[in-house]
Amino acid sequence: MFVSNDGYFGEYWDFETNTYYLRARHFSPRTGRFTQPDPYWTIHNMQFGSSSVIRNGRPVPNRYAIMQAGNLFVFAINNPIRWIDPSGLRIELPSDTTQEQRDAYNRAITYLNRSEVFRGLWQTLEDATEVFTIAFTYNHFMRFDHETRTIFWDTTSGLIMLDGAAIQSAALGLAHEMGHAAQYLEGHAFFDDMTQDNRALLEAENLRRFESPIARQLGEPTRARYFDDAGVHRMNNSTHHRIIYTPNWNSRSPFAGNSRIPMTIDINWRR
Ligand SMILES: [Zn+2]
Repeated sequence: MFVSNDGYFGEYWDFETNTYYLRARHFSPRTGRFTQPDPYWTIHNMQFGSSSVIRNGRPVPNRYAIMQAGNLFVFAINNPIRWIDPSGLRIELPSDTTQEQRDAYNRAITYLNRSEVFRGLWQTLEDATEVFTIAFTYNHFMRFDHETRTIFWDTTSGLIMLDGAAIQSAALGLAHEMGHAAQYLEGHAFFDDMTQDNRALLEAENLRRFESPIARQLGEPTRARYFDDAGVHRMNNSTHHRIIYTPNWNSRSPFAGNSRIPMTIDINWRR
């Protein structure tokens, strides 16, 4: 089918993938994104096109080439929070993500995927038409910004539970913020009216539907209420967490009779 809208004239609609076919990559009208990296434009042809017109001994800039190649620069150098490489995923990493951050993220996602509740949450975000971006931080301050649809994530920030011993993994913090993203997708009115009370209700719902069930399925500690935490702790990696084990006083376990003080067990989850 010949199409002439969106300025992508002369290109072909691909019925198989519901995308416009532009040379070697696809543009999806659903997401407004290219679904493959662009292998066509290079530093050599982005100004003058492939078959340069020579006038007075100099190549004439090709307007079409500049406009199209300009998209490359939009993807590459615009605000990395909003524009990232067009992977086609609904959750994307900024173009300046380091390998270490990428590894921490992949490790966290692989770990979280052991939870059925998380897999449902993940599917919700992947089915969305809006794109969410992960912004990496190192200040323990995780949050979801609904205006830019950005999840601020500290890859090694563990949340200390109220007992001062058990610690949730940074991965669980990521799941928590993704829970807020899902709440946002559901059109939660609270995001536009973030009073103290509404915030508390939003957090309570997050704990009930996302954080706590995911934590339980992963064997991580849970908090009864949103403010039931005792601070933050720098962890070894994105999935590192700590649970407390309270020995049964009368049991024959190796811990029996040792102490009434709960033991702490560090868990460094491995893929
Ligand atoms: Zn929250």
